[in-house]
Amino acid sequence: MPLPSGVDAALLGLLGLLVGSFLNVVIHRLPKMMDLRWAAECAEFQAASGSPEAASTPLDQPPFNLMVPRSRCAHCGHAIRWFENIPVLSYLALRGGCSACGAPIGLRYPAVEVVSAALFAWCGWHWGLGWEALAWSGFSAAILALACIDWDTTLLPDDITLPLLWAGLCAAALGVIAIPLPSALWGAVAGYLSLWLVYWAFKLATGKEGMGYGDFKLFAALGAWFGWEALIPIILMASVIGAVVGIGIKLRGSLREGGYVPFGPFLALAGLTAMIFGPASILAAIGL
Ligand SMILES: [Zn+2]
Repeated sequence: MPLPSGVDAALLGLLGLLVGSFLNVVIHRLPKMMDLRWAAECAEFQAASGSPEAASTPLDQPPFNLMVPRSRCAHCGHAIRWFENIPVLSYLALRGGCSACGAPIGLRYPAVEVVSAALFAWCGWHWGLGWEALAWSGFSAAILALACIDWDTTLLPDDITLPLLWAGLCAAALGVIAIPLPSALWGAVAGYLSLWLVYWAFKLATGKEGMGYGDFKLFAALGAWFGWEALIPIILMASVIGAVVGIGIKLRGSLREGGYVPFGPFLALAGLTAMIFGPASILAAIGL
């Protein structure tokens, strides 16, 4: 007998809470891991080319990855104990501050956990406990991490966009998601090529870079998960919201250095909207 959808939602919601806690680590550490990897590659290259600077570049860094070192307070270095690391509850119990020094813990942490839990719960409620719900939960987690990382750093790491793309194609091939494989495949191809073309047209016309390669890969991944038919609604929604937010930021005068508003968070938002309401509803909402 299938479980009532409320139970499915609760179970996946709980999983989403735990995954959200892990996503906070990814969002925080992955950009720094990319920096360290890049620095190590530069040092290796300099060492190989016999550059005199090579001697001064430390190659042996202490390990820094998603597991090591333990999480610490950014302010006082207090090591976070397990009971201070329980999703949302710890934040509330600590009243949003470090237990040692009282420095505020960003609202981002519980927010990511709550959003992740809500998205997972929605998947459980909509699809029921099973592979399809798990696949879309994984999609939601990856999209959430990408949106936050791009917002913070204007980077969309290949470490997330490329597995997301492959996962979409595999899920379609295995029949886990209800997208025919040809539609997923051409969605990935058309998603990448369309933004690649826009990028070069914009660059040739203005001499500026309007977006990054990560945006092409994320759009390709969305094409794989929703099929090529969904690309136009998704890009329309992302562009409209991106333009509105971009103008808002400009008017407030709080544009960051270089005047660059990352596009990834809006693609991510459009992707989640397509998951919850269906790509066609986006066109309906703007009267097409
Ligand atoms: Zn502290």
